[in-house]
Amino acid sequence: MDKYLSQLNEAQLAPTLQKDGPMIVIAGAGSGKTRVLTFRIAYLMSQGIDPFNILALTFTNKAAREMKSRIATIVGDSEAKNLWMGTFHSIFAKILRFEADKLGYPSNFTIYDTQDSQRLISAIIKEMGLDKEVYKYKQIYSRISSYKNSLITVKAYFQNPELIEADTMARRPRLGDIYKEYVDRCFKAGAMDFDDLLLKTNELLTRFPEVLAKYQNRFKYILVDEYQDTNHSQYLIVRALSDKFQNICVVGDDAQSIYAFRGANINNILNFQRDYDDVKVFRLEQNYRSTKTIVNAANSIIDKNQTKLDKVVWTANEEGAKIKVHRSINDGDEGRYVASSIFENKMQNQLQNSDFAVLYRTNAQSRAIEDALRKRDIPYRIFGGLSFYQRKEIKDVLAYLRLVINPADEEALKRIINFPARGIGQTTIDRLIVAANGYNRSIFEVLKNLDKVEVNINSGTKNKLQNFVTLIESFQVMNQTANVFELTDHVTKASGLIREFKKDGTPEGVTRMENIEELLNGMKDFVDGQIEVADATGSLAEYLEDVALATDLDNDKGDDNKVALMTIHLAKGLEFSYVYIVGLEEDLFPSAMSMNTRSELEEERRLFYVALTRAEKQAYLTYALTRYRWGKLIDAEPSRFIEEIDDQYLDIVTPPEERRFNPMLDPDIFGDVPQNKIRFKPPKSRDTRKKGAPKTKPEGIKITPPKHLKKVSNTNGNTNLFDSKLTVGNVVEHLRFGKGKIIKIEGKGADMKAEINFENGGSKKLLLRFAKLKII
Ligand code: ATP
Ligand code: MG
Repeated sequence: MDKYLSQLNEAQLAPTLQKDGPMIVIAGAGSGKTRVLTFRIAYLMSQGIDPFNILALTFTNKAAREMKSRIATIVGDSEAKNLWMGTFHSIFAKILRFEADKLGYPSNFTIYDTQDSQRLISAIIKEMGLDKEVYKYKQIYSRISSYKNSLITVKAYFQNPELIEADTMARRPRLGDIYKEYVDRCFKAGAMDFDDLLLKTNELLTRFPEVLAKYQNRFKYILVDEYQDTNHSQYLIVRALSDKFQNICVVGDDAQSIYAFRGANINNILNFQRDYDDVKVFRLEQNYRSTKTIVNAANSIIDKNQTKLDKVVWTANEEGAKIKVHRSINDGDEGRYVASSIFENKMQNQLQNSDFAVLYRTNAQSRAIEDALRKRDIPYRIFGGLSFYQRKEIKDVLAYLRLVINPADEEALKRIINFPARGIGQTTIDRLIVAANGYNRSIFEVLKNLDKVEVNINSGTKNKLQNFVTLIESFQVMNQTANVFELTDHVTKASGLIREFKKDGTPEGVTRMENIEELLNGMKDFVDGQIEVADATGSLAEYLEDVALATDLDNDKGDDNKVALMTIHLAKGLEFSYVYIVGLEEDLFPSAMSMNTRSELEEERRLFYVALTRAEKQAYLTYALTRYRWGKLIDAEPSRFIEEIDDQYLDIVTPPEERRFNPMLDPDIFGDVPQNKIRFKPPKSRDTRKKGAPKTKPEGIKITPPKHLKKVSNTNGNTNLFDSKLTVGNVVEHLRFGKGKIIKIEGKGADMKAEINFENGGSKKLLLRFAKLKII
């Protein structure tokens, strides 16, 4: 162990060796917080603490796996296997499985993923005859989700006139009814959604003191990474479990709290000292990840936030290159720049693709980057898209398996009762739902008792339904003896799924078949003993739980040499040699949705801090002058965050050759204002605007273009967007049209255009931001 402890500096050693009592490590990015957690667990085990008594909660399952394998190298594989390590959701899903009956759930309850939940909500809205334009299912889902994460149950909702009023004011007076129906339907289907995994854990720990005592005794040592992003529900769980022994160690960085929009509460970190007695507070100041330039630039950004704890971050690493800022004409141009820069860096510095990451604010931005990387033959991988297990064909297979385990699962049943087609129409399904609701039974129970229940379905259809029941029941029988792999292999054939996908000879159809094959391969691995968490036995129920909680980050084995593309939210805790942060434009980053209050803007700034601090060697910031958003080409303004970085760390580049080759710069094409050019206005979001929040932009938010842009060196000395001192009467020179006199100027800012009488070409109207004019 001593050999390993020498890999920590003194400040890191202190919290690592602090065995007992409540403690918090507050420190900036890259200072070794996660490293301390990892070594601390190894240290506890070396001190004789049983791994069964240690619970470590991480931000992703992948992070848990990596920590575990690191610990295994220190204390040995077999011991490390017994650690309870994972995300809140995966750990508490396991616990709920043991205790489900206490809450009235079957132990084989289904976990509804976001798509299942949203489908159910959408169905409920339809059944209630509500206007789906007013009751948008995604919004309703996130509203219900935030209630659950604040522990506002249906009962609590109806007892709270303020909440009811708020929803009524938002023109959604039936929200409570939808919430109630949704909760009832999930319960009847034996299903928990993601938020239930936390909510029901809280319920379990409050309602059953003996259960609480059991887990308090079990988890004598609790550790939490990324504590700044815990929500209220998670906070209460940690608080309850650690209450007896108070051996709780949390690490976090208030400057990296980026999930407030999903209910994370930065106060959890700020109030930690109030919650426990004799809290030891540790600070780490030395960053090991990044160059001096990156560390200092990141410090200069976060300095602008008012709400923050004072922290010092410094590094002994090299100075490093300046942060490159690149301006593009549009997103395609931006993608090309990123791709060619990655290409050059790879060549010049002998780097791997996996040394690079491209980070963006919204998933939609990945397309242009992907196109450019593909053209350059640079392999990449997108994170944060659909997880493998959420693909249509995979969900179809899984739906059969879900029904095998839990026939009450309504969403699984609706998905496959007529897929592949077996002549069961939507009207039949609707009638079955009504009957099930009427009898307060699951749809499957209604199906099993078609002779006895009152439902208007003809005998031909009844036969088909009975065949479906028999099919599922035959799978259930097989499940008693076969393993997951054998069962699924059989299910895909006997259900007709394979035939259905084979029929489809398109490339998509072929991919679907390959995915199913991949699913079966993964199952084989699972059966062969890839057991992740203590007490797992490799059953179908466990398999389904694993995949329900898998994100596509979890599929990453870390061995494929590809450029990583992901949103900044996903990049938390990760590090890459070269990081490109793209789309640094006002209304995109900071997001238009997050500029209503100072605290929202500060969260965007923390997000930028997180993005920049992922970089080890070099960071690139790019922005475009125009961008398609919601199908319209809009003018974009560079992000205020670029300006907020201290100048001395920036290197502003705009390669001349790229501009020369860009057709967008050709005034023949873009000499006039495109008709569809509409200035983008941030949508007013009813949900995000807090009561009493200022309607106008709050103080301190500038709307003038960032000052550094005036410094953008123009490679040929011509005018550009930011230099519009032109007036009527000026004689100017255009690269292609030659000399001319300005006879009229109209429009403002980026839309400013000039009518020019050219000596040898008549008059032309040019958009100044694209025209290359020189005053003579
Ligand atoms: P974040 O805030 O981004 O989650 P963190 O504080 O968790 O960062 P780590 O990821 O633990 O920081 O560490 C950052 C990097 O520095 C890692 O590559 C880690 O291995 C390295 N590192 C940390 N401490 C040391 C040390 N004492 N000696 C050498 N390398 C270290
Ligand atoms: Mg970390």
